[in-house]
Amino acid sequence: MIKIGLTGGIGSGKSTVSKMLIEKGFKIIDADVIAKNVLIKYPEIIDKIKIEFGSGFFDWRGEFRRREFGNHIFRFPKQRKKYEDIILPYINKEIFATLDEYEQAGEKIVIIDAPTLIENNLHTYMDYIIVVWVDNNTQIIRIKNRDRLSRDEAINRLNAQLSLDKKRDYAHIIIDNNGELLKTKEQVDKVIDFLNVINK
Ligand code: ATP
Repeated sequence: MIKIGLTGGIGSGKSTVSKMLIEKGFKIIDADVIAKNVLIKYPEIIDKIKIEFGSGFFDWRGEFRRREFGNHIFRFPKQRKKYEDIILPYINKEIFATLDEYEQAGEKIVIIDAPTLIENNLHTYMDYIIVVWVDNNTQIIRIKNRDRLSRDEAINRLNAQLSLDKKRDYAHIIIDNNGELLKTKEQVDKVIDFLNVINK
């Protein structure tokens, strides 16, 4: 089975590109969905968060205040590292389990959509890496608009990841998503042609 890593920066357009690929019938593993699901599937993660970060990030009903927690860990890199040390083993385990399921089912190509593919070293398991790239300014504007964040919050989140320009160095294929969606779609169609060739 050929494994394709689809990555980029926060708000660079991975989901937009992955939707285009899903429409064409490609199988995608979405690491963001997995990151949310592991919190439900493995309640011990929440217990570990409570132990490490205190009960301040839980409301009076005991519900996890995800947004406040997100802002906190993106403001303080050491805290984010602490959180990642807790959650990443679960996320990676689920990604590999899902890859196995696809392999057992006889899939020939699977795409892993993961914002921190390279930071988490998952890129070393991929046969090809696609980076969805935008310039810094476009990235900040799109994050602000989509997530209703202030400019500073958007920049904190952006700085928490390896820069998009560094990620480009790892790419076999770069999709430039600065322009209109139609331009992105044209590039995705070319990627699909390539995937169809290597799939033969
Ligand atoms: P994250 O990793 O943070 O979830 P992402 O890389 O998946 O982000 P998207 O959610 O696909 O990024 O895109 C970020 C925002 O930018 C969305 O609101 C999306 O609608 C918008 N967007 C994506 N591509 C374009 C484009 N070419 N032109 C205009 N807006 C775009």
